[in-house]
Amino acid sequence: MSVLPAQALRLDDRFASSLPEMAVPWQAEEAPEPRLLALNEPLAAELGLDPAVLRAPEGLRLLVGTAVPEGARPVAQAYSGHQFGGYSPRLGDGRALLLGELVGADGTLRDLHLKGSGRTPFARGGDGLAAVGPMLREYVISEAMHALGIPTTRALAVVATGRSVRRETLLPGAVLARVASSHLRVGSFQYARATDDVDLLRRLADVAIERHGVVVGDGGAADAGNRYLALFDAVVGVQASLVARWMLVGFVHGVMNTDNMTISGETIDYGPCAFMEAYDPDTVYSSIDEGGRYRYGNQPLAAEWNLARLAEALLPLIADDAEQAIALAVETLKTFRPRYDAAFAEGMRAKLGLPADADDDAVAGLVDDLLGLLRAGHVDWTSFFRRLADAARGDAEPVRLLFLDLAGIDGWLERWRALVPDGAAMDRVNPVYIPRNHLVEEALDAATAGDLTLLEELLEVLGSPFDERPDHERYAEPAPQDFGATFRTFCGT
Ligand code: AMP
Ligand code: MG
Repeated sequence: MSVLPAQALRLDDRFASSLPEMAVPWQAEEAPEPRLLALNEPLAAELGLDPAVLRAPEGLRLLVGTAVPEGARPVAQAYSGHQFGGYSPRLGDGRALLLGELVGADGTLRDLHLKGSGRTPFARGGDGLAAVGPMLREYVISEAMHALGIPTTRALAVVATGRSVRRETLLPGAVLARVASSHLRVGSFQYARATDDVDLLRRLADVAIERHGVVVGDGGAADAGNRYLALFDAVVGVQASLVARWMLVGFVHGVMNTDNMTISGETIDYGPCAFMEAYDPDTVYSSIDEGGRYRYGNQPLAAEWNLARLAEALLPLIADDAEQAIALAVETLKTFRPRYDAAFAEGMRAKLGLPADADDDAVAGLVDDLLGLLRAGHVDWTSFFRRLADAARGDAEPVRLLFLDLAGIDGWLERWRALVPDGAAMDRVNPVYIPRNHLVEEALDAATAGDLTLLEELLEVLGSPFDERPDHERYAEPAPQDFGATFRTFCGT
C-alpha cells in the first residue's frame, strides 16, 4: 500500500475516531492492473477533486484503495441487519471500506467508500470482491436516480482491478468508489443497541444528529427537546419522502433489508434493483425475493417495518421509562403513513399535471382509477405519463394506443381534462428515460466484454432524463416482449 501526499486529497477520519467500536481499521487488497472504466467528472469537480489526478496511476490506486491519502484511516464499518425479516447480529462491510470523509468548503462531510476492495473481518463466506457488471450497474442506476432528483449515494468511479472474480463463471473484477452523505444505516443502530452499551448508542445517535442536521426543538411532533425522538422523527420523514419518490418513478429496490436503509434518506446499495415497466404492484425482480417481500407495491410497508426496528434500537435513548419510550416512538412511527401518503399524492398530482388547487378528493379518485386501468392494461408506467402530456396538449392518440380498454381510458381522460392539466409541467417531472433493464443489461454485457460505448451513451441519456432527444427512441421504449417476462436480478454480486 502506498501513501498519497495529503495535498492530493484530504480525508477526515471522523467516523473511525468517534465510533471506534464500530470501525475496524483495514486495507484494500492489491489490484494487479487497475484500469478506469467510468469516472464521474461532474461529481469529482463538485467534490473539489481533479479528474486528471484521479485518472493518473496514483489516482487509480486511490480509487481501488491501494494508495491512501496521508492521515486517512480506512475502516470496515460494523452493522447488523434484518435480512428478509431475519436478524443477523453481525453483518458489516464484508467487501467494502470507508476511506474517510471528504470535508466540503462549508464543512459538510461526505463519505468516500469503496465496494469490492477485498475481504474484511466481516466477509464471512464471501470473497470480498465485486464484478465489473454489478459495479457498473450501481454506477448507472445511482447516477440515473440522481438525475431524476431522487436522494441517493453517488458513484465516483468504477475501476477494473485486473483480477478475476469467481461467480457462476470467471468475471473481471472491479471496485466502485461511491460517495454518500453518510453510511449510517438502520442496521448501524441495531448493532450499537445490541452491544448493550448505551453510551455507544448515544454517541452514534449524536453523530447522526450532527451529520444530518437534525433539528431538535423545532416544534414538530417529536419535540419537547427530545433529541433522539427528533432523530427518529427526521428519519421517518426522509424515508417516507424517499420511498414515495421511488414509487413515483417505478423503482424497485429489491433488498430493503435494515442494513440497506440509510439514516440520511439516500437510496443505498443497488443490488437486485430494477425499474418497473408495466404497472403492477406485485413486480419483483430479485431472484432471491421468493415471497415478494420487497415487491414494488410493498415498499412503503417494508420501509415502515424497518423504521420500527430503528425505533426499537433507539428506545433506551428516547426515555428512561420503557413504557414511555415505546409510546413516544409509536406515536412518531404512526406519522410514516400519512407522510408517505401525502408525498405520494403530491407527486402523483404533479405527474398528472394538475394544479395545486384541484380538489384533493377528485385527484385521489383519478389516481385510484388510473392505477386500476394501468394494471389491467399492463401499461408501461414511464411511457404513459409522457404520452399523457401529449393528451394535455390536445393529442390523446399516443396515450390511447397504450390501452385496449378504450372506453375505460376515454372516460378517465375526460375527468382528468376537466381539472385542466398542464402538459409542459408534466414534462418537467415525468422522465422520458429511465434505466430500463434490457438497456442496462445490454450496456453492461458490452462493457464486461471490453466495449464501453453503449455504457457511455446510456449514461449520457440518463443524465438528462426529462429531455427528449432526437434519434434516441430505443432508449424510451419498454423491453421487447421476450426480455421482460423472465428478467431477474441477482444478489451476492
Ligand atoms: P448486501 O445485501 O449486498 O447489502 O450485503 C449484505 C452483506 O453481505 C454485507 O455485510 C456485505 O458486506 C456482505 N457481502 C456481500 N457480498 C459479499 C462478498 N462478495 N464478500 C464479502 N461480503 C459480502
Ligand atoms: Mg448492503
